[in-house]
Amino acid sequence: MKALVKAKAEPGLWMERRPVPEIGPDDVLIRIRKTGICGTDIHIWNWDEWAARTVPVPLVTGHEFAGEIVELGRNVEGLAIGQRCSGEGHLIGRQSRQSRAGKFHLDPATRGIGVNEQGAFAEYLRLPAFNVVPLPDAIDDEIGAILDPLGNAVHTALSFDLVGEDVLITGAGPIGIMAAAVARHVGARHVVITDVNPARLELAAQVADVTPVDVTKEHLADVKARLRMTEGFDVGMEMSGNQAALDQMVEAMVMGGRIAMLGIPPGKSPVDWSRIVFKAITIKGVYGREIFETWYKMIAMLENGLDVRRVITHRFTVDEFREGFMAMKSGLSGKVVLDWT
Ligand code: NAD
Ligand code: ZN
Repeated sequence: MKALVKAKAEPGLWMERRPVPEIGPDDVLIRIRKTGICGTDIHIWNWDEWAARTVPVPLVTGHEFAGEIVELGRNVEGLAIGQRCSGEGHLIGRQSRQSRAGKFHLDPATRGIGVNEQGAFAEYLRLPAFNVVPLPDAIDDEIGAILDPLGNAVHTALSFDLVGEDVLITGAGPIGIMAAAVARHVGARHVVITDVNPARLELAAQVADVTPVDVTKEHLADVKARLRMTEGFDVGMEMSGNQAALDQMVEAMVMGGRIAMLGIPPGKSPVDWSRIVFKAITIKGVYGREIFETWYKMIAMLENGLDVRRVITHRFTVDEFREGFMAMKSGLSGKVVLDWT
């Protein structure tokens, strides 16, 4: 089969021929139709310090996918050949207390496809049947291929009650933009999204009914006045990984505000803790998606009017993967989807 492989411990990815994976009794084999390129894949392409420390070589990359089941392990029940599906790319352990309590996303022994284990940028993917998420007809393959990052957005957005609340999202990357669409869908009042990249803010306004703010040009205090907000933002979602953004968020929050943090700062970064303490702010770290509660809620919302399709700005065939990665690296794209059919 064709596969996009981290074949050497240096920048780049290589299209190679690899054997079709053999499945075990509890696995399924998925014929991949569409995949999404993630920021993680860019780290792996660039072979930065995190990637060099984390990713074994050679490795089939990729974890955002949609496809069709073509083979079932002998123990697999409740799934059928021909079933369209996506799936959770985190392969969880079953020994930890959290896992045994059903909080699968908090299992510390989790391994990721396309990061630690053979991934989805290939014609075929082996996946434990447990991880499979069947797709209803209402969700086509390209939306199916971006459910992983949409899940990050949904998990973050549903961390706190948003109904009637004023919401601030820092970082209009694909995940921030999708989180804005979710906040709007579930009934937030004002949804303000910040970035330093005008192209990203323009895209945000195309995808969701939001107030885009370029923080290099406008101060959040002025935005609050413009929106006639007398106090601060009730809920914040940090989705940039940028230290300045978190600082601006803390400053713009209401007393007792709640912040969900998905963005990953590049290293240890200083925080003005006294402001967080005196404002009595709650901060929740957000990792991945809730397995499988986020998937249920996300699919239900997509079946009931949540529309994130415009976040997909580029579509390529898999043979044009280099163009896809370059589009991602440009910082001008939303989601980039590769077609394997
Ligand atoms: P992205 O890099 O595409 O988007 C980040 C955006 O933040 C960019 O558009 C950038 O211009 C913007 N930004 C930079 N400085 C800013 C500032 N001062 N104020 C406002 N915006 C600023 O990332 P993405 O793919 O949308 O992911 C969002 C974040 O979530 C990343 O940090 C990513 O690493 C992280 N992430 C975390 C998890 C998790 O499980 N915790 C999962 C996926 C992604
Ligand atoms: Zn991803």
